[in-house]
Amino acid sequence: MRPFTTTVFAEMSALALETGAVNLGQGFPDADGPASLLEDAVAAIRGGRNQYPPGPGVLELREAVAAHQARFYGLEVHPDEVLVTAGATEAIAATVLALTAAGDEVVVLEPYFDSYAATIALAGATRRTVVLRPGDGFALDEAALRAAFTDRTALVLLNTPHNPTGRVLRPAELALVAELAQRHDAVVLSDEVYEHQAFDAPHVPIATLPGMAERTLTVSSAGKTFSVTGWKIGWVHGPAPLVAAVRAVKQFLTFVSGGPFQPAVARALALPDEVYAGFAASLRAKRDLLVEGLAAAGLSPLVPEGTYFATADVAGLGWDDSVAFCRALPHRAGVVAIPVRVFMDDQDAAPTLVRFAFCKRDEVLHEALDRLARADLTAGPGAG
Ligand code: GLN
Repeated sequence: MRPFTTTVFAEMSALALETGAVNLGQGFPDADGPASLLEDAVAAIRGGRNQYPPGPGVLELREAVAAHQARFYGLEVHPDEVLVTAGATEAIAATVLALTAAGDEVVVLEPYFDSYAATIALAGATRRTVVLRPGDGFALDEAALRAAFTDRTALVLLNTPHNPTGRVLRPAELALVAELAQRHDAVVLSDEVYEHQAFDAPHVPIATLPGMAERTLTVSSAGKTFSVTGWKIGWVHGPAPLVAAVRAVKQFLTFVSGGPFQPAVARALALPDEVYAGFAASLRAKRDLLVEGLAAAGLSPLVPEGTYFATADVAGLGWDDSVAFCRALPHRAGVVAIPVRVFMDDQDAAPTLVRFAFCKRDEVLHEALDRLARADLTAGPGAG
């Protein structure tokens, strides 16, 4: 069942505006990223960098992405193996369109970010989902993963840290994906936009596993790393022939984008480790604040290991449907959240799971939590 015709994020953000609710739905920070980044973008605009950037992206950003991958993960990337995209969303869409066709299958973790399913459908390919279950701490189930691979598997669309569950995949889980991808000669498309928001386990790019760099396209973005989601600067890197195939599609989607933002992001990627660590530490504290507050309000939160989302179960409040809960919540409590069910094919796996974003100023989180604590959140007559 797909109750939302626009993206659920747009619908829930519109509902927040309409009702004056605190928006913990769509995941975007409410504070700007590093001041130097903003100044560098202003300087780039004033400095006349306002025409089309080169198709693959400006060289300084491609060099900066390569240097970032070497610095954090020891990955050797050549700037020519980097393609700058209109956010991670375009990197994913262009890759799926480039590398799959009707009859091909794409293995994808479920719940999945909504654009994955849409993009696979646009390509005419078929998704084969592997459910991450709340009862297992959202760990990857080996039997389910093995069962998802067939002789039609062309692509594995991985996401770690994982939106919306907050799970950080462990090296053993990645090794299993690697083994199966190699056995089935599939390419791995790894969405790592929350790479710098892993709190309880280190983020490991699957491209660092033996034999994987040559079959992996790794995606990340400035939006998530530096809290500039509206700039839509993302990138993908991998083996040159695969990146060339992605570029061939990308040039007819957006051609190029974000000219003056690209050099600014290049400089931000070189910011010292303390900047990255400070942002992660601040988000981790926000996670703890949100999770404690949700529990105090009678929800049953699951502690996310990464990303800036936490999920909570509303079954204990008497609900049997997260969509109904999320539609009622702005009216009941003045808070907006996202029903996880809309990211799932298996409607019975997590019917009452709700996602809250915590990438918000502390006072905004406190306000949302106060509202939740004061409201009657139980299902029953008058609900809705
Ligand atoms: N990635 C963000 C989220 O999961 C925003 C997505 C969007 O609005 N398309 O909430």
